[in-house]
Amino acid sequence: MTEPAKTRRVVVIGGGVSGLTAAYTLARARQAGAPVEEVLIEANPWLGGVVRSEAVDGFLVEAGPDSFLAEKPEAAAMARDLGLGDDLIGSNDHARRTYILHHKRLVPLPDGLMFLVPTRFWPMVTTGLLPLSAKLKAAGEMFSSPPATEKEDESVASFVKRHFGQAMVENIADPLLAGVYGGDSETLSMRSVLPRFWEMERKHGSLTRATLEAMRHRPTDGAKSSPPSGADTAEPGKLPLFMTLKGGLEQMTQRLAAQVDKYRIFLGRKALTLEFAPGGPGGLGDSCSRRFLINCESYKTYDADAVILALPARHASGMIAPLDHRLSGLLEGIPYSSSMTVSLGFDEKVRAALPPGFGFLIPRKEQRRMLACTFVHAKFDHRAPEGKALLRCFLGGTRDPDILSMFDEAILEGVRRELKAILKISAEPLFYRIHEWPDSMAQYAVGHKARVSAIEQRLLDLPGIYLAGNAYSGIGISDCIRTGKSAAEKALDFVAAERRGTQKTEGSK
Ligand SMILES: Cc1cc2nc3c(=O)[nH]c(=O)nc-3n(C[C@H](O)[C@H](O)[C@H](O)COP(=O)(O)OP(=O)(O)OC[C@H]3O[C@@H](n4cnc5c(N)ncnc54)[C@H](O)[C@@H]3O)c2cc1C
Repeated sequence: MTEPAKTRRVVVIGGGVSGLTAAYTLARARQAGAPVEEVLIEANPWLGGVVRSEAVDGFLVEAGPDSFLAEKPEAAAMARDLGLGDDLIGSNDHARRTYILHHKRLVPLPDGLMFLVPTRFWPMVTTGLLPLSAKLKAAGEMFSSPPATEKEDESVASFVKRHFGQAMVENIADPLLAGVYGGDSETLSMRSVLPRFWEMERKHGSLTRATLEAMRHRPTDGAKSSPPSGADTAEPGKLPLFMTLKGGLEQMTQRLAAQVDKYRIFLGRKALTLEFAPGGPGGLGDSCSRRFLINCESYKTYDADAVILALPARHASGMIAPLDHRLSGLLEGIPYSSSMTVSLGFDEKVRAALPPGFGFLIPRKEQRRMLACTFVHAKFDHRAPEGKALLRCFLGGTRDPDILSMFDEAILEGVRRELKAILKISAEPLFYRIHEWPDSMAQYAVGHKARVSAIEQRLLDLPGIYLAGNAYSGIGISDCIRTGKSAAEKALDFVAAERRGTQKTEGSK
Protein backbone atom coordinates (compact mmCIF):
# COMPACT_ATOMS: atom_id res chain seq x y z
CA MET A 1 0.00 0.00 0.00
CA THR A 2 1.39 3.47 -0.88
CA GLU A 3 1.53 6.00 1.93
CA PRO A 4 -0.45 9.25 1.46
CA ALA A 5 1.78 12.04 0.12
CA LYS A 6 3.24 14.25 2.85
CA THR A 7 1.55 17.66 2.86
CA ARG A 8 3.96 20.41 1.81
CA ARG A 9 3.69 23.79 3.45
CA VAL A 10 4.04 27.01 1.51
CA VAL A 11 4.29 30.10 3.70
CA VAL A 12 3.29 33.44 2.22
CA ILE A 13 4.70 36.47 4.03
CA GLY A 14 2.74 39.70 3.50
CA GLY A 15 -1.05 39.91 3.32
CA GLY A 16 -1.53 42.69 0.77
CA VAL A 17 -3.25 41.96 -2.51
CA SER A 18 -0.09 40.19 -3.80
CA GLY A 19 0.24 37.87 -0.81
CA LEU A 20 -3.50 37.27 -0.61
CA THR A 21 -3.54 36.27 -4.28
CA ALA A 22 -0.68 33.86 -3.64
CA ALA A 23 -2.41 32.38 -0.57
CA TYR A 24 -5.70 32.14 -2.48
CA THR A 25 -4.00 30.31 -5.37
CA LEU A 26 -2.48 27.84 -2.91
CA ALA A 27 -5.80 27.41 -1.10
CA ARG A 28 -7.50 26.62 -4.41
CA ALA A 29 -4.86 23.97 -5.15
CA ARG A 30 -5.40 22.46 -1.69
CA GLN A 31 -9.17 22.46 -2.19
CA ALA A 32 -8.59 20.70 -5.52
CA GLY A 33 -6.71 17.92 -3.71
CA ALA A 34 -3.05 18.95 -3.96
CA PRO A 35 -1.14 17.80 -0.85
CA VAL A 36 -0.21 21.35 0.07
CA GLU A 37 -1.13 23.75 2.86
CA GLU A 38 -0.93 27.53 2.73
CA VAL A 39 0.10 29.69 5.67
CA LEU A 40 -0.18 33.47 5.57
CA ILE A 41 1.86 35.70 7.88
CA GLU A 42 1.03 39.41 8.08
CA ALA A 43 2.60 42.10 10.27
CA ASN A 44 -0.52 44.26 10.53
CA PRO A 45 -3.59 43.25 12.51
CA TRP A 46 -5.54 43.44 9.21
CA LEU A 47 -5.24 41.97 5.72
CA GLY A 48 -5.24 43.80 2.39
CA GLY A 49 -2.11 45.95 2.80
CA VAL A 50 -2.79 49.35 1.26
CA VAL A 51 -6.20 48.25 -0.06
CA ARG A 52 -8.77 49.62 2.40
CA SER A 53 -12.30 50.87 1.80
CA GLU A 54 -14.50 52.64 4.33
CA ALA A 55 -18.17 53.57 4.13
CA VAL A 56 -18.78 57.00 5.68
CA ASP A 57 -22.37 58.33 5.77
CA GLY A 58 -23.21 57.11 2.29
CA PHE A 59 -19.76 57.96 0.85
CA LEU A 60 -17.25 55.28 -0.03
CA VAL A 61 -13.69 56.27 0.82
CA GLU A 62 -10.75 54.39 -0.65
CA ALA A 63 -7.77 54.85 1.63
CA GLY A 64 -5.26 53.46 -0.86
CA PRO A 65 -5.92 52.45 -4.48
CA ASP A 66 -9.31 53.47 -5.84
CA SER A 67 -9.42 51.48 -9.10
CA PHE A 68 -7.38 49.53 -11.59
CA LEU A 69 -6.57 50.02 -15.24
CA ALA A 70 -9.11 47.98 -17.21
CA GLU A 71 -6.63 47.31 -19.96
CA LYS A 72 -4.68 44.97 -17.68
CA PRO A 73 -7.02 42.01 -17.31
CA GLU A 74 -5.90 40.30 -14.08
CA ALA A 75 -7.87 42.33 -11.52
CA ALA A 76 -11.21 42.11 -13.33
CA ALA A 77 -10.61 38.40 -14.00
CA MET A 78 -9.89 37.85 -10.32
CA ALA A 79 -13.05 39.74 -9.33
CA ARG A 80 -15.09 37.45 -11.58
CA ASP A 81 -13.30 34.39 -10.23
CA LEU A 82 -14.31 35.49 -6.72
CA GLY A 83 -17.96 35.91 -7.70
CA LEU A 84 -17.73 39.70 -7.84
CA GLY A 85 -18.38 40.07 -11.58
CA ASP A 86 -21.69 41.86 -10.99
CA ASP A 87 -19.97 44.38 -8.72
CA LEU A 88 -17.46 45.50 -11.34
CA ILE A 89 -18.07 49.05 -12.46
CA GLY A 90 -16.27 51.11 -15.08
CA SER A 91 -15.20 54.73 -14.88
CA ASN A 92 -17.68 57.25 -16.28
CA ASP A 93 -15.52 57.85 -19.32
CA HIS A 94 -18.15 59.97 -21.05
CA ALA A 95 -17.41 62.58 -18.35
CA ARG A 96 -13.66 62.08 -18.41
CA ARG A 97 -11.64 65.23 -18.39
CA THR A 98 -8.44 65.85 -16.48
CA TYR A 99 -7.05 69.28 -15.76
CA ILE A 100 -3.52 70.46 -15.19
CA LEU A 101 -2.88 73.39 -12.90
CA HIS A 102 -1.07 75.80 -15.20
CA HIS A 103 -0.16 79.32 -14.03
CA LYS A 104 -2.69 78.87 -11.16
CA ARG A 105 -5.55 77.98 -13.54
CA LEU A 106 -7.05 74.58 -14.35
CA VAL A 107 -6.42 73.83 -18.02
CA PRO A 108 -7.88 70.62 -19.51
CA LEU A 109 -5.50 68.04 -20.93
CA PRO A 110 -6.00 68.14 -24.68
CA ASP A 111 -8.61 65.64 -25.93
CA GLY A 112 -7.10 62.60 -27.57
CA LEU A 113 -3.94 62.59 -25.45
CA MET A 114 -3.21 58.91 -24.82
CA PHE A 115 -1.11 59.19 -21.67
CA LEU A 116 1.64 61.24 -23.31
CA VAL A 117 0.92 60.79 -26.95
CA PRO A 118 -1.27 63.24 -28.88
CA THR A 119 -3.63 61.44 -31.24
CA ARG A 120 -5.82 64.39 -32.30
CA PHE A 121 -4.52 67.40 -34.16
CA TRP A 122 -6.87 70.25 -33.27
CA PRO A 123 -6.94 69.91 -29.45
CA MET A 124 -3.12 69.95 -29.48
CA VAL A 125 -3.02 73.07 -31.59
CA THR A 126 -5.43 74.94 -29.32
CA THR A 127 -4.28 73.78 -25.87
CA GLY A 128 -3.00 76.46 -23.54
CA LEU A 129 -0.74 73.93 -21.80
CA LEU A 130 2.08 73.97 -24.32
CA PRO A 131 4.02 76.73 -26.05
CA LEU A 132 4.06 76.90 -29.84
CA SER A 133 7.50 75.29 -30.08
CA ALA A 134 6.24 72.22 -28.14
CA LYS A 135 3.12 72.01 -30.31
CA LEU A 136 5.23 72.03 -33.47
CA LYS A 137 7.53 69.34 -32.06
CA ALA A 138 4.54 67.18 -31.03
CA ALA A 139 2.90 67.59 -34.43
CA GLY A 140 6.16 66.70 -36.21
CA GLU A 141 6.73 63.55 -34.11
CA MET A 142 4.52 61.55 -36.42
CA PHE A 143 6.74 62.35 -39.42
CA SER A 144 10.21 62.83 -37.96
CA SER A 145 10.48 60.75 -34.82
CA PRO A 146 13.88 60.67 -33.09
CA PRO A 147 16.05 57.56 -33.53
CA ALA A 148 15.59 54.98 -30.75
CA THR A 149 18.23 55.32 -28.06
CA GLU A 150 21.11 52.85 -28.04
CA LYS A 151 21.00 52.88 -24.24
CA GLU A 152 19.64 49.98 -22.19
CA ASP A 153 17.31 52.37 -20.38
CA GLU A 154 16.59 56.05 -20.02
CA SER A 155 14.57 58.32 -17.72
CA VAL A 156 10.97 59.11 -18.64
CA ALA A 157 11.90 62.81 -18.80
CA SER A 158 14.70 62.21 -21.29
CA PHE A 159 12.54 59.94 -23.49
CA VAL A 160 9.56 62.32 -23.55
CA LYS A 161 11.83 65.27 -24.22
CA ARG A 162 13.32 63.52 -27.27
CA HIS A 163 9.85 62.92 -28.69
CA PHE A 164 7.76 65.87 -27.58
CA GLY A 165 10.02 68.48 -25.96
CA GLN A 166 10.72 69.80 -22.45
CA ALA A 167 7.34 71.53 -21.99
CA MET A 168 5.59 68.18 -22.39
CA VAL A 169 7.84 66.79 -19.61
CA GLU A 170 7.18 69.65 -17.19
CA ASN A 171 3.52 70.29 -17.85
CA ILE A 172 2.21 66.80 -18.55
CA ALA A 173 4.58 63.83 -18.01
CA ASP A 174 5.96 64.84 -14.63
CA PRO A 175 2.58 65.67 -13.02
CA LEU A 176 1.12 62.44 -14.41
CA LEU A 177 3.92 60.37 -12.89
CA ALA A 178 3.71 62.25 -9.60
CA GLY A 179 -0.05 61.61 -9.51
CA VAL A 180 0.18 57.92 -10.39
CA TYR A 181 3.52 56.73 -8.95
CA GLY A 182 4.36 59.45 -6.46
CA GLY A 183 7.52 59.62 -8.57
CA ASP A 184 9.80 61.90 -10.54
CA SER A 185 10.14 61.75 -14.34
CA GLU A 186 13.88 62.55 -14.10
CA THR A 187 14.60 59.34 -12.20
CA LEU A 188 11.88 56.88 -13.24
CA SER A 189 12.81 54.34 -15.89
CA MET A 190 11.04 54.61 -19.22
CA ARG A 191 11.67 50.96 -19.95
CA SER A 192 10.07 49.75 -16.70
CA VAL A 193 7.39 52.37 -16.06
CA LEU A 194 6.10 52.78 -19.61
CA PRO A 195 7.37 49.65 -21.36
CA ARG A 196 4.76 49.85 -24.08
CA PHE A 197 6.00 53.22 -25.30
CA TRP A 198 9.58 51.97 -25.08
CA GLU A 199 8.68 49.04 -27.34
CA MET A 200 6.66 51.30 -29.65
CA GLU A 201 9.70 53.43 -30.26
CA ARG A 202 11.75 50.38 -31.15
CA LYS A 203 9.14 49.01 -33.53
CA HIS A 204 7.65 52.15 -35.09
CA GLY A 205 9.90 55.09 -34.24
CA SER A 206 6.94 57.45 -33.91
CA LEU A 207 4.82 57.01 -30.80
CA THR A 208 1.95 58.89 -32.41
CA ARG A 209 1.78 56.54 -35.39
CA ALA A 210 2.05 53.47 -33.12
CA THR A 211 -0.65 54.73 -30.72
CA LEU A 212 -3.09 55.46 -33.52
CA GLU A 213 -2.52 51.93 -34.82
CA ALA A 214 -3.00 50.39 -31.32
CA MET A 215 -6.25 52.34 -30.80
CA ARG A 216 -7.75 50.58 -33.78
CA HIS A 217 -7.27 47.27 -31.95
CA ARG A 218 -8.44 48.20 -28.40
CA PRO A 219 -9.96 45.17 -26.57
CA THR A 220 -13.56 45.04 -25.31
CA ASP A 221 -15.02 43.75 -22.06
CA GLY A 222 -18.33 43.27 -20.32
CA ALA A 223 -17.82 45.76 -17.44
CA LYS A 224 -20.68 48.15 -17.00
CA SER A 225 -19.59 51.54 -18.24
CA SER A 226 -22.02 54.41 -17.99
CA PRO A 227 -23.85 55.30 -21.20
CA PRO A 228 -21.77 57.53 -23.42
CA SER A 229 -22.74 61.15 -23.85
CA GLY A 230 -21.05 64.48 -24.43
CA ALA A 231 -17.50 65.22 -25.46
CA ASP A 232 -14.55 62.82 -25.08
CA THR A 233 -17.05 60.03 -25.55
CA ALA A 234 -16.24 56.51 -24.43
CA GLU A 235 -16.72 54.33 -27.46
CA PRO A 236 -19.63 51.90 -26.97
CA GLY A 237 -18.47 48.32 -26.38
CA LYS A 238 -14.92 49.45 -25.59
CA LEU A 239 -13.31 48.88 -22.21
CA PRO A 240 -13.64 51.73 -19.71
CA LEU A 241 -10.31 53.25 -18.77
CA PHE A 242 -10.58 52.33 -15.07
CA MET A 243 -12.57 49.72 -13.21
CA THR A 244 -13.36 49.15 -9.57
CA LEU A 245 -15.88 47.38 -7.37
CA LYS A 246 -19.19 48.87 -6.33
CA GLY A 247 -18.48 48.30 -2.63
CA GLY A 248 -14.80 49.29 -2.86
CA LEU A 249 -11.62 47.39 -3.69
CA GLU A 250 -11.56 45.86 -0.22
CA GLN A 251 -14.38 43.62 -1.44
CA MET A 252 -11.73 41.80 -3.44
CA THR A 253 -9.16 41.41 -0.67
CA GLN A 254 -11.87 40.26 1.74
CA ARG A 255 -13.04 37.61 -0.71
CA LEU A 256 -9.48 36.46 -1.30
CA ALA A 257 -8.91 36.18 2.45
CA ALA A 258 -12.16 34.27 2.92
CA GLN A 259 -10.83 31.46 0.71
CA VAL A 260 -7.75 30.96 2.90
CA ASP A 261 -8.29 28.71 5.90
CA LYS A 262 -8.59 31.09 8.87
CA TYR A 263 -6.48 28.78 11.05
CA ARG A 264 -3.65 29.27 8.60
CA ILE A 265 -3.63 33.08 8.79
CA PHE A 266 -1.39 34.75 11.37
CA LEU A 267 -1.99 38.47 11.86
CA GLY A 268 0.09 40.97 13.83
CA ARG A 269 3.15 38.82 13.21
CA LYS A 270 6.14 40.54 11.70
CA ALA A 271 8.53 38.17 9.95
CA LEU A 272 12.20 39.00 10.55
CA THR A 273 14.49 36.51 8.86
CA LEU A 274 14.45 33.48 6.64
CA GLU A 275 17.00 30.70 7.01
CA PHE A 276 17.54 27.10 6.02
CA ALA A 277 16.04 24.72 8.55
CA PRO A 278 18.77 22.81 10.44
CA GLY A 279 17.59 19.45 9.17
CA GLY A 280 15.96 20.57 5.95
CA PRO A 281 17.27 19.84 2.47
CA GLY A 282 19.43 22.96 2.59
CA GLY A 283 20.48 22.54 6.22
CA LEU A 284 22.99 20.52 8.23
CA GLY A 285 21.31 18.89 11.21
CA ASP A 286 18.33 16.59 11.37
CA SER A 287 15.80 18.30 13.65
CA CYS A 288 13.37 19.53 10.99
CA SER A 289 12.09 17.85 7.86
CA ARG A 290 11.20 21.09 6.09
CA ARG A 291 13.52 23.30 4.08
CA PHE A 292 13.13 26.76 5.63
CA LEU A 293 12.60 28.46 8.97
CA ILE A 294 10.88 31.82 9.23
CA ASN A 295 11.70 33.76 12.38
CA CYS A 296 9.12 36.28 13.49
CA GLU A 297 8.93 38.86 16.24
CA SER A 298 8.26 37.49 19.76
CA TYR A 299 10.34 34.39 18.99
CA LYS A 300 7.63 32.77 16.86
CA THR A 301 9.03 30.41 14.26
CA TYR A 302 7.40 28.69 11.29
CA ASP A 303 8.83 26.00 9.07
CA ALA A 304 8.10 25.81 5.38
CA ASP A 305 8.84 23.77 2.27
CA ALA A 306 8.58 26.91 0.14
CA VAL A 307 8.25 30.60 0.91
CA ILE A 308 6.67 33.49 -0.97
CA LEU A 309 7.89 36.93 0.04
CA ALA A 310 5.00 39.22 -0.91
CA LEU A 311 6.56 42.20 0.82
CA PRO A 312 7.95 45.59 -0.09
CA ALA A 313 11.44 44.84 -1.50
CA ARG A 314 13.19 46.47 1.47
CA HIS A 315 11.49 44.06 3.88
CA ALA A 316 12.18 41.10 1.59
CA SER A 317 15.83 42.26 1.56
CA GLY A 318 16.08 42.09 5.36
CA MET A 319 14.49 38.66 5.45
CA ILE A 320 16.74 37.17 2.81
CA ALA A 321 20.00 38.67 4.12
CA PRO A 322 21.03 35.53 6.10
CA LEU A 323 20.74 33.44 2.91
CA ASP A 324 22.22 35.69 0.23
CA HIS A 325 23.80 39.06 0.94
CA ARG A 326 24.13 40.01 -2.71
CA LEU A 327 20.44 39.33 -3.36
CA SER A 328 19.57 41.24 -0.23
CA GLY A 329 21.55 44.23 -1.56
CA LEU A 330 19.80 44.11 -4.93
CA LEU A 331 16.40 44.15 -3.20
CA GLU A 332 17.45 46.92 -0.83
CA GLY A 333 18.36 49.06 -3.86
CA ILE A 334 14.74 49.36 -5.04
CA PRO A 335 13.61 52.74 -3.68
CA TYR A 336 10.11 53.52 -2.45
CA SER A 337 8.16 56.70 -2.05
CA SER A 338 5.61 57.42 0.64
CA SER A 339 2.16 58.73 -0.12
CA MET A 340 -0.87 60.16 1.56
CA THR A 341 -4.51 60.42 0.57
CA VAL A 342 -6.83 63.04 2.03
CA SER A 343 -10.50 62.39 1.26
CA LEU A 344 -13.12 65.08 1.89
CA GLY A 345 -16.89 64.89 1.53
CA PHE A 346 -18.81 68.02 0.52
CA ASP A 347 -22.41 69.04 0.06
CA GLU A 348 -24.42 69.69 -3.12
CA LYS A 349 -23.34 73.33 -3.38
CA VAL A 350 -19.68 72.41 -3.68
CA ARG A 351 -20.44 69.69 -6.20
CA ALA A 352 -22.43 72.04 -8.38
CA ALA A 353 -19.56 74.53 -8.44
CA LEU A 354 -16.86 72.02 -9.46
CA PRO A 355 -15.63 71.94 -13.03
CA PRO A 356 -16.78 68.84 -14.96
CA GLY A 357 -14.31 65.95 -15.09
CA PHE A 358 -12.28 63.48 -13.05
CA GLY A 359 -9.96 65.96 -11.33
CA PHE A 360 -6.59 67.65 -11.76
CA LEU A 361 -2.82 67.17 -11.57
CA ILE A 362 -0.29 69.72 -10.32
CA PRO A 363 3.12 70.28 -11.93
CA ARG A 364 6.10 70.91 -9.68
CA LYS A 365 6.53 74.53 -10.81
CA GLU A 366 3.12 75.47 -9.35
CA GLN A 367 4.68 74.90 -5.91
CA ARG A 368 1.76 73.24 -4.19
CA ARG A 369 1.88 70.41 -1.68
CA MET A 370 -0.95 68.54 -3.40
CA LEU A 371 0.13 66.32 -6.30
CA ALA A 372 -3.34 65.54 -7.64
CA CYS A 373 -7.01 65.62 -6.77
CA THR A 374 -9.70 63.22 -7.99
CA PHE A 375 -13.39 64.13 -8.19
CA VAL A 376 -14.33 60.65 -7.05
CA HIS A 377 -18.11 61.16 -7.35
CA ALA A 378 -17.62 61.96 -11.05
CA LYS A 379 -15.11 59.23 -11.85
CA PHE A 380 -17.32 56.40 -10.50
CA ASP A 381 -20.93 55.85 -9.49
CA HIS A 382 -21.66 54.55 -5.97
CA ARG A 383 -19.05 56.75 -4.30
CA ALA A 384 -21.12 59.64 -2.89
CA PRO A 385 -24.76 60.21 -1.96
CA GLU A 386 -26.89 61.79 -4.71
CA GLY A 387 -25.64 65.29 -5.52
CA LYS A 388 -22.75 65.29 -2.99
CA ALA A 389 -19.05 65.52 -3.76
CA LEU A 390 -16.13 63.34 -2.72
CA LEU A 391 -12.66 64.77 -3.36
CA ARG A 392 -9.55 62.68 -2.91
CA CYS A 393 -6.26 64.53 -2.72
CA PHE A 394 -2.96 62.77 -3.27
CA LEU A 395 0.13 64.09 -1.45
CA GLY A 396 3.69 63.10 -0.61
CA GLY A 397 5.62 61.10 -3.18
CA THR A 398 9.27 61.84 -3.92
CA ARG A 399 8.33 65.52 -4.20
CA ASP A 400 7.25 65.94 -0.59
CA PRO A 401 8.23 63.07 1.75
CA ASP A 402 8.15 65.40 4.79
CA ILE A 403 4.38 65.65 4.73
CA LEU A 404 4.13 62.32 6.50
CA SER A 405 5.63 63.81 9.64
CA MET A 406 3.04 66.60 9.89
CA PHE A 407 0.07 66.62 12.26
CA ASP A 408 -3.38 65.92 10.81
CA GLU A 409 -4.65 69.43 11.61
CA ALA A 410 -1.84 71.02 9.62
CA ILE A 411 -2.35 68.62 6.71
CA LEU A 412 -6.07 69.30 6.60
CA GLU A 413 -5.54 73.02 6.82
CA GLY A 414 -3.00 72.93 3.99
CA VAL A 415 -5.26 70.84 1.75
CA ARG A 416 -8.22 73.13 2.37
CA ARG A 417 -6.08 76.19 1.64
CA GLU A 418 -5.00 74.71 -1.70
CA LEU A 419 -8.56 73.60 -2.59
CA LYS A 420 -9.71 77.13 -1.88
CA ALA A 421 -7.02 78.64 -4.09
CA ILE A 422 -7.56 76.20 -6.96
CA LEU A 423 -11.30 75.36 -6.82
CA LYS A 424 -12.60 78.28 -4.72
CA ILE A 425 -13.99 75.84 -2.13
CA SER A 426 -14.26 77.44 1.28
CA ALA A 427 -17.12 75.28 2.67
CA GLU A 428 -16.48 73.06 5.69
CA PRO A 429 -16.12 69.44 4.60
CA LEU A 430 -18.85 67.08 5.83
CA PHE A 431 -16.05 64.76 6.92
CA TYR A 432 -12.43 64.05 6.12
CA ARG A 433 -10.08 61.09 6.27
CA ILE A 434 -6.29 61.16 6.13
CA HIS A 435 -4.40 57.98 5.25
CA GLU A 436 -0.63 57.70 5.28
CA TRP A 437 1.25 55.04 3.35
CA PRO A 438 4.95 55.16 4.22
CA ASP A 439 7.31 53.51 1.70
CA SER A 440 4.40 52.09 -0.26
CA MET A 441 5.11 52.94 -3.91
CA ALA A 442 8.07 51.17 -5.52
CA GLN A 443 10.04 53.55 -7.73
CA TYR A 444 11.39 51.89 -10.85
CA ALA A 445 14.56 53.92 -11.30
CA VAL A 446 16.59 53.88 -14.52
CA GLY A 447 18.21 50.41 -14.69
CA HIS A 448 15.34 48.72 -12.84
CA LYS A 449 14.91 46.01 -15.46
CA ALA A 450 18.57 44.98 -15.21
CA ARG A 451 18.26 44.91 -11.41
CA VAL A 452 15.19 42.66 -11.59
CA SER A 453 17.02 40.30 -14.01
CA ALA A 454 19.90 40.09 -11.54
CA ILE A 455 17.45 39.34 -8.72
CA GLU A 456 15.86 36.57 -10.78
CA GLN A 457 19.28 35.11 -11.55
CA ARG A 458 20.22 34.92 -7.88
CA LEU A 459 16.88 33.40 -6.97
CA LEU A 460 17.71 30.44 -9.23
CA ASP A 461 20.24 29.44 -6.56
CA LEU A 462 17.55 29.58 -3.85
CA PRO A 463 14.92 27.11 -5.06
CA GLY A 464 11.77 27.28 -2.94
CA ILE A 465 11.88 31.08 -2.45
CA TYR A 466 9.67 33.27 -4.62
CA LEU A 467 8.95 37.00 -4.76
CA ALA A 468 5.69 38.82 -5.38
CA GLY A 469 4.53 42.39 -5.05
CA ASN A 470 4.77 45.81 -6.58
CA ALA A 471 8.56 46.07 -6.58
CA TYR A 472 9.36 44.19 -9.75
CA SER A 473 7.16 44.28 -12.83
CA GLY A 474 4.36 46.79 -12.27
CA ILE A 475 2.85 48.58 -9.28
CA GLY A 476 -0.84 48.34 -10.22
CA ILE A 477 -3.37 46.01 -8.63
CA SER A 478 -3.41 43.78 -11.72
CA ASP A 479 0.39 43.54 -11.68
CA CYS A 480 0.32 42.51 -8.03
CA ILE A 481 -2.31 39.86 -8.72
CA ARG A 482 -0.20 38.55 -11.61
CA THR A 483 2.96 38.29 -9.47
CA GLY A 484 1.08 36.71 -6.53
CA LYS A 485 -0.47 34.05 -8.76
CA SER A 486 2.75 33.35 -10.61
CA ALA A 487 4.74 33.00 -7.35
CA ALA A 488 2.16 30.53 -5.99
CA GLU A 489 2.21 28.50 -9.20
CA LYS A 490 6.01 28.30 -9.09
CA ALA A 491 5.89 27.24 -5.44
CA LEU A 492 3.32 24.55 -6.25
CA ASP A 493 5.50 23.25 -9.10
CA PHE A 494 8.51 23.28 -6.81
CA VAL A 495 6.92 21.31 -3.96
CA ALA A 496 5.36 18.87 -6.43
CA ALA A 497 8.74 18.25 -8.12
CA GLU A 498 10.44 17.93 -4.76
CA ARG A 499 7.82 15.45 -3.60
CA ARG A 500 8.33 13.37 -6.73
CA GLY A 501 12.10 13.51 -6.08
CA THR A 502 11.68 12.35 -2.48
CA GLN A 503 9.33 9.56 -3.49
CA LYS A 504 11.85 8.37 -6.10
CA THR A 505 14.68 8.41 -3.56
CA GLU A 506 12.56 6.52 -1.04
CA GLY A 507 11.47 4.05 -3.72
CA SER A 508 15.06 3.29 -4.69
CA LYS A 509 16.23 2.64 -1.09
C1 LIG B 1 -2.16 55.64 -1.95
C2 LIG B 1 -2.05 54.61 -3.02
C3 LIG B 1 -2.86 54.69 -4.14
C4 LIG B 1 -2.76 53.73 -5.13
N1 LIG B 1 -3.62 53.78 -6.18
C5 LIG B 1 -3.65 52.76 -7.07
C6 LIG B 1 -4.70 52.68 -8.02
O1 LIG B 1 -5.60 53.51 -8.05
N2 LIG B 1 -4.68 51.63 -8.88
C7 LIG B 1 -3.73 50.65 -8.84
O2 LIG B 1 -3.77 49.71 -9.65
N3 LIG B 1 -2.74 50.69 -7.91
C8 LIG B 1 -2.69 51.70 -7.03
N4 LIG B 1 -1.73 51.73 -6.06
C9 LIG B 1 -0.72 50.68 -6.05
C10 LIG B 1 -1.25 49.35 -5.48
O3 LIG B 1 -2.30 49.60 -4.61
C11 LIG B 1 -0.16 48.61 -4.74
O4 LIG B 1 0.97 48.46 -5.56
C12 LIG B 1 -0.60 47.24 -4.26
O5 LIG B 1 -1.80 47.29 -3.55
C13 LIG B 1 0.51 46.64 -3.42
O6 LIG B 1 0.09 45.39 -2.94
P1 LIG B 1 1.17 44.44 -2.23
O7 LIG B 1 0.45 43.29 -1.67
O8 LIG B 1 2.28 44.13 -3.17
O9 LIG B 1 1.81 45.35 -1.12
P2 LIG B 1 1.16 45.94 0.21
O10 LIG B 1 -0.24 46.30 0.03
O11 LIG B 1 2.13 46.98 0.67
O12 LIG B 1 1.20 44.70 1.18
C14 LIG B 1 2.38 44.22 1.75
C15 LIG B 1 2.02 43.63 3.09
O13 LIG B 1 3.20 43.06 3.66
C16 LIG B 1 3.12 43.30 5.07
N5 LIG B 1 4.47 43.21 5.61
C17 LIG B 1 5.51 44.05 5.40
N6 LIG B 1 6.58 43.60 6.07
C18 LIG B 1 6.21 42.46 6.70
C19 LIG B 1 6.90 41.53 7.54
N7 LIG B 1 8.20 41.68 7.85
N8 LIG B 1 6.22 40.46 8.01
C20 LIG B 1 4.91 40.26 7.70
N9 LIG B 1 4.21 41.13 6.91
C21 LIG B 1 4.86 42.20 6.42
C22 LIG B 1 2.55 44.69 5.17
O14 LIG B 1 2.02 44.91 6.45
C23 LIG B 1 1.50 44.67 4.08
O15 LIG B 1 0.25 44.26 4.55
C24 LIG B 1 -1.81 52.67 -5.03
C25 LIG B 1 -0.97 52.60 -3.91
C26 LIG B 1 -1.09 53.56 -2.90
C27 LIG B 1 -0.22 53.45 -1.69
